[in-house]
Amino acid sequence: MNTQTLFYIIIAILVIQFIIDRGLEYLNAKRYNDSIPPELNDVFDREEYRKSQEYKKTNYKFSWFTATFSLIITLAFLLLGGFEWVDSIARNISSHPIVIALIFFGIIMIGNDILTTPFSYYRTFVIEEEFGFNKTSKKLFWIDKAKGWLMTIILGGGILALIIWFFEWAGSNFWIYTWILVAAVSLFMNLFYSRLIVPIFNKQTPLEDGSLKDMIQAYANKVGFEIKNIFVIDGSKRSTKANAYFSGFGREKRITLYDTLINDLEEEEIVAVLAHEVGHYKRKHIIYNITLSILLTGLTLYILSIFINNPEVSLAIGVSQPSFHAALIGFGILYSPISEITSLVMNMISRAFEYQADDYAKDTFSSQPLISSLKKLSKSSLSNLTPHPAYVFMHYSHPPLIARIRNLKV
Ligand SMILES: [Zn+2]
Repeated sequence: MNTQTLFYIIIAILVIQFIIDRGLEYLNAKRYNDSIPPELNDVFDREEYRKSQEYKKTNYKFSWFTATFSLIITLAFLLLGGFEWVDSIARNISSHPIVIALIFFGIIMIGNDILTTPFSYYRTFVIEEEFGFNKTSKKLFWIDKAKGWLMTIILGGGILALIIWFFEWAGSNFWIYTWILVAAVSLFMNLFYSRLIVPIFNKQTPLEDGSLKDMIQAYANKVGFEIKNIFVIDGSKRSTKANAYFSGFGREKRITLYDTLINDLEEEEIVAVLAHEVGHYKRKHIIYNITLSILLTGLTLYILSIFINNPEVSLAIGVSQPSFHAALIGFGILYSPISEITSLVMNMISRAFEYQADDYAKDTFSSQPLISSLKKLSKSSLSNLTPHPAYVFMHYSHPPLIARIRNLKV
């Protein structure tokens, strides 16, 4: 296929994705004013519900603005030869392929960050602030940003450098070594995320002794779940939204509860949320998810290895010299329709897992406190009670509240 055709395919993919995305958002937004299913009548009172609808509408309008802006910038960059310009800057600085790639991606990411930071700033300090979610100070916002950058430079830069080194050394077989590297990093991250990454952003303290801990311990003993690590994280320093999650496996497994969750929920409800998390563990969802994502990564890298040596994939983004880094961008866009489909499948699996974890909590603990905790969590995040089924199908990793409650009531 010639470069010109590929270039138009790239443009078409970007535009079609925008249209599909916006179409789904539109369908979803049309349902904001639908009547609430009777089971959910007690989630909000009238005034709170009006506020949650306002929140969704505000986010919807804002997403139109950011998505359109991002499409225009991306298209302009492609059409005006932006990648060629960045590539020539990088090539003027060095002739080493790894250094060129690092500078190339570095410039693109800095540019992207400069363009998107005002939006995330507005989202945090205007929208989230207006609806009372935001607890982040401006100082914390910038510190978070700096820490995020440092992590991207060390981790992302390191991995990218290694991948190009594999490519220089092993040619098309680079994908096998890259696969091993990515699998090792993601396994490591899953095991030590809570120990190494979370502390950079949050403070975690072991759950203190008391009735809650006793109740959790009693439940854990009952289902034969060895639980040594229950941590409370200071989520409240950024947001009022509450959450709980499970990470790691084997001896590294731990449950993390947001301090906001502990403040908002009754003890029985917290144990129910925990029982749901234990359900994920007992049903081996964590292992399945990691295995599946490693297999998917291998498949993607294999397909990448087929196309990477094809100069057209580089040239299609408008550069004059084919290279690994330019091909990576071209491939990234050309592959995105396929990754849309795989993420859709992953979401379907994830929703099935959520029902299984809910069922586990129902069978080993109780469904009523889980229902009331799900209602409280939906309320605290002003979540959408009437999403469009097509939107759920594409984007939801968790079933909508009403579906989960109906399942729990069976
Ligand atoms: Zn879950």
